[in-house]
Amino acid sequence: MVNIILLGPPGAGKGTQARRLVEERGMVQLSTGDMLREARTSGTDMGKRVAEVMDRGELVTDEIVIGLIEEKIAADTGQGGGFIFDGFPRTLPQADALGAMLTRMGQRLDAVIEMRVEDEALVSRVSGRFTCGNCGEVYHDETRPTKVSGTCDVCGSTDLRRRADDNAESLKQRLMEYYKKTSPLIGYYYAQGDLFTVDGLAEIEEVASKIAGVLAQSASS
Ligand code: AMP
Repeated sequence: MVNIILLGPPGAGKGTQARRLVEERGMVQLSTGDMLREARTSGTDMGKRVAEVMDRGELVTDEIVIGLIEEKIAADTGQGGGFIFDGFPRTLPQADALGAMLTRMGQRLDAVIEMRVEDEALVSRVSGRFTCGNCGEVYHDETRPTKVSGTCDVCGSTDLRRRADDNAESLKQRLMEYYKKTSPLIGYYYAQGDLFTVDGLAEIEEVASKIAGVLAQSASS
């Protein structure tokens, strides 16, 4: 069992790789972005506040996301495959909180995989992206269109969605947040000896095989 963090700017491919790890290794994906998107549809006051912050491309408070992660990992032991933290932690206090949670559970963090992609590529990746509202499969207008227009290749659903924050203006803010608040985590995990960097611009298969290599190395150490 391995617990990993996928770290990288919006559009780096964290969600795509996390989905593969879930399918191929029975790992459990914990995406705070997905949890927050679910919370915003709840119609509660908290949900409405979260929606405004997300649409502006800013970060939701540490307290809220730490609470969400705590709830999920208490309810799930990683099903033997381990956890993939996707989009969490995004700040140093979140990283400290995660370390403490894992220690309390008698678990450890095995690897932090930084997916490195330069900014220009992120703009086109994010602005062309859409996902299946039913099964979560991720597509892109140019690089990964559906085989039949308007229909998910995997489950056949026609509920294909674009995120409200996948536009140029929000992306600019999301990148600012990433560089200001999240990128310091690269140094933090490097210092802990947990950091591995992969080229997020490579083909999906190639990135997946690099990640598999990191997992094999961490599992044996
Ligand atoms: P994502 O799906 O990971 O790109 O997240 C979408 C949005 O949800 C972000 O732009 C933030 O507004 C919010 N969000 C997701 N994860 C976190 C986190 N760990 N800390 C703070 N805000 C988050």
